Amino acid sequence: MCGHHAAEDAGCNCEEGMVVTDTSAGVVVVGAGLGAIRLAETLRTNGYTDPITLIGAEPYAPYDRPPLSKSVLLGKDDRVELKPAEFYADSNIDLQLGRRVVAIAPGERTVTVADAGDPAQTETVAYDTLVLATGLSPRPFPGADDALVGLHTLRTYDDAVALRSEIDAATDAVVIGAGFIGCEVAASLLARGVKVSLVEPAPTPLAAALGTEIGKLVTRLHIDNGIDVRAATGVSEIIGTDGRVTGVRLDDDSRLPADIVVVGIGSIPVTDYLDGSGIDCAARAEGGGIACDAYGRTSAESVYALGDVANWRDADGVGHRAEHWNHTVEQAAIVAHQIVGGDAVTPAVPYFWSDQFDLKIQVLGSPRPTDDVHIAADDGKKFLAYYSRDGILTAVAGAGKVGAVMKTRAKLVTPTPIDEVL
Ligand SMILES: Cc1cc2nc3c(=O)[nH]c(=O)nc-3n(C[C@H](O)[C@H](O)[C@H](O)COP(=O)(O)OP(=O)(O)OC[C@H]3O[C@@H](n4cnc5c(N)ncnc54)[C@H](O)[C@@H]3O)c2cc1C
Repeated sequence: MCGHHAAEDAGCNCEEGMVVTDTSAGVVVVGAGLGAIRLAETLRTNGYTDPITLIGAEPYAPYDRPPLSKSVLLGKDDRVELKPAEFYADSNIDLQLGRRVVAIAPGERTVTVADAGDPAQTETVAYDTLVLATGLSPRPFPGADDALVGLHTLRTYDDAVALRSEIDAATDAVVIGAGFIGCEVAASLLARGVKVSLVEPAPTPLAAALGTEIGKLVTRLHIDNGIDVRAATGVSEIIGTDGRVTGVRLDDDSRLPADIVVVGIGSIPVTDYLDGSGIDCAARAEGGGIACDAYGRTSAESVYALGDVANWRDADGVGHRAEHWNHTVEQAAIVAHQIVGGDAVTPAVPYFWSDQFDLKIQVLGSPRPTDDVHIAADDGKKFLAYYSRDGILTAVAGAGKVGAVMKTRAKLVTPTPIDEVL
């Protein structure tokens, strides 16, 4: 058998290595975001000619999320689409928008798709290979009334536009949660003239990702720019009056006024449509999401997962889920090569960035909050720091230090003693 057809076509005349166009159902991707479009594009550039179908719940063609908390909120840029409209027809990619996958039957190789406007309208779509790239949904604040005007989370373009539409009329904002998105939203709201408090139960912003030592430098950056940083304190209540937010109550019972409250307390992998499919999810302690091997294969045959929703096992057998742009792009390339049977793609050094105020914060490698941190440069604003574990360099983090961060890449490819970079 050539490997391109189902078992009953074993007598086909395909040459080895050839990708065949026939009546195949091709690749169906659940989710039409960054991972989906990168996968589809890589399949086509690698000679895949069978059908490719992207099914997306949002009404928009695949778009880029990083600008949502930055240029879109700042009102500078509204063009976030990842490909021009003609790309889909030119590449023979069937883009189905406003359609939500509600169930998967790996035994029959089908998915059930519901019309987003009319969930009772369902259709069954067949696949040869299925790729799950459904991303995340923001974690809601426990007990908050979702319907309160002025209360926001930020994941989608619609979320960003809804938040942006309230900025001009706002005086005070509270951002709950100082992860990357919370820090960026705080910086953008401040730049738009709103007074901002950033509330975080951990000792510093970004502590969970970068540890408290670098978190202190990020705290300084926010305070110096005029953010009221309230670290090491939680929010006990979001206060609403007559259907709109008016403030938040902190754990110490003090109250901050707010006409905008943005909740940025993490996100949940979107996996509800897997119920009853038999596809395994990873344990919450390992980051949750869809459990995959080191190439994105799930527990079901011919079903892959990638991007923010996917929890890939690394070479040491440890499950890991990341919520970063480059990570998604890289996984899409690996899965595409699995599908077309091309050369294996070597995982790159993990990388992510965040834009806050006029600084680009960049992280290369895999820092853990418990790693040893070595601050190599700090001029009161820009900084550069290396991370090590057991004497081996694990990551570099910089703010306003693009060249120095990128120069460290080669040293992160193979184990490098920390003394060699200090
Ligand atoms: C505000 C914001 C700022 C960010 N900034 C940065 C940054 O500065 N640097 C960085 O490295 N990363 C950043 N990221 C992260 C980056 O955008 C993500 O890692 C990336 O978008 C993940 O791509 P994905 O394809 O996995 O998911 P997504 O891009 O979220 O796409 C998933 C799609 O699947 C759809 N979907 C979900 N369920 C279904 C279903 N059942 N049926 C059909 N469709 C479904 C969703 O509607 C969504 O459109 C940011 C993210 C956000 C939200």
